[in-house]
Amino acid sequence: MVTMDEIVALCKRRGFIFQSSEIYGGLNSCWDYGPLGVEMKNNIKRLWWKANVQLRDDVVGLDSSILMNPKVWEASGHLSNFSDPMADCKLCKKRWRVDQLQEYKCPECGGELTEARMFNLMFKTFMGPVEDESAVVYLRPETAQGIFVNFVNVQQTMRKKIPFGIAQIGKSFRNEITPGNFIFRTREFEQMEIEYFVKPGTDEYWHKHWIEQRINWYYNLGIRKENLRVREHGKDELAHYAKACVDIEYLFPMGWSELEGIANRTDFDLTQHQKYSGENLTYFDDETKQRYIPYVIEPSAGVDRSLLAFLIDAYEYQQIDKDDFRVVLHLHPAISPVKAAVFPLMKKEELVKKAREIYNELKYKWIVQYDESGSIGKRYRRQDEIGTPFGITVDYQTLEDETVTIRDRDTMEQIRVHIKEIIPYLEERIEV
Ligand code: ATP
Repeated sequence: MVTMDEIVALCKRRGFIFQSSEIYGGLNSCWDYGPLGVEMKNNIKRLWWKANVQLRDDVVGLDSSILMNPKVWEASGHLSNFSDPMADCKLCKKRWRVDQLQEYKCPECGGELTEARMFNLMFKTFMGPVEDESAVVYLRPETAQGIFVNFVNVQQTMRKKIPFGIAQIGKSFRNEITPGNFIFRTREFEQMEIEYFVKPGTDEYWHKHWIEQRINWYYNLGIRKENLRVREHGKDELAHYAKACVDIEYLFPMGWSELEGIANRTDFDLTQHQKYSGENLTYFDDETKQRYIPYVIEPSAGVDRSLLAFLIDAYEYQQIDKDDFRVVLHLHPAISPVKAAVFPLMKKEELVKKAREIYNELKYKWIVQYDESGSIGKRYRRQDEIGTPFGITVDYQTLEDETVTIRDRDTMEQIRVHIKEIIPYLEERIEV
């Protein structure tokens, strides 16, 4: 299996992910997505949106603000409960999240730990010029609450009937005690969340439905089945408001770890917001003429963790023969940052002209690259390493019969197609 160091090195070398503020020595746990990283991230978000909003009649989207009225966090329980137990090593002074330790001692030097104390994970800041208690606001630690407080707005303006869901993608912030494992656990990250509102009593059915939907989303985008598993939370692990929760876990280099959580949150959130806001957050059921507070199923995924899982799953160091090897990313074409690369076989004027024409046409549809430098073999390998699924080469035969070769990244096999067939050929293999 690929190591995290190899992934980090590839990401830096090929412009996927850089350390944040690198020229100043970086900032712990913060990362910048480079030109290829941002394309890949956008693809993941777009594919999630397509599957969960565009293709579903029962889910609509939202983009709520990151800063919210601090009462939201009082009602949601984040102010009093969103904390992890933390302790310091008396010897090496390192800080640890106690609930993640096997034994109650420093994993680094074996030193004795101080008594555990609770540490709230929300980032605090001030709104406006005066830095006093009344100006305190928080950076949201999840996107979910923006959805709950808009439940009535969305339900009424969209005339949605239960069951229906609201989806949102956006940044969240948690002052994690022990961030690490590259982009797996950071203090600023992006989430893709759905709050799916259901009639109490149907919640278990919908919980199952969403677990299935979400796992299939990863499968359909090429994640290997043996690297994904569903783990149900034990009773001792469940958040106090949740009736049930499962994690979709991926086999990362550091072991099985959470990729996405899918919880049955009951009517906890809306009940709390109704109590704290004094607003009526019930739903009126036309058929039964009854009002009730719906239950909520919440599939909550991380954009960054998904991207990391897709990269790890796709990575292969492939020995081709005795002294020939390549690094290849077998990414699903829909996820690949660059969909195709166009090459003139040689840097000859008439080949360059034709290749540029093809490139200029393709770029209206997808992110594509044009490359004329170095041997054709080297150019193919450069694209393999960033997961470009198709290499299109213009050669002398192209000038005679308007055909090009299309090379498949995974098999390295080439076929000849007419220029007019390039777009349909790619479309069929890229779009999901
Ligand atoms: P963990 O147990 O790993 O701290 P969590 O159970 O607190 O995660 P949730 O609150 O369920 O996480 O958040 C939903 C999803 O958001 C996670 O499955 C993960 O993909 C993503 N996520 C949460 N915290 C982070 C983080 N610090 N960095 C990157 N992604 C995160």
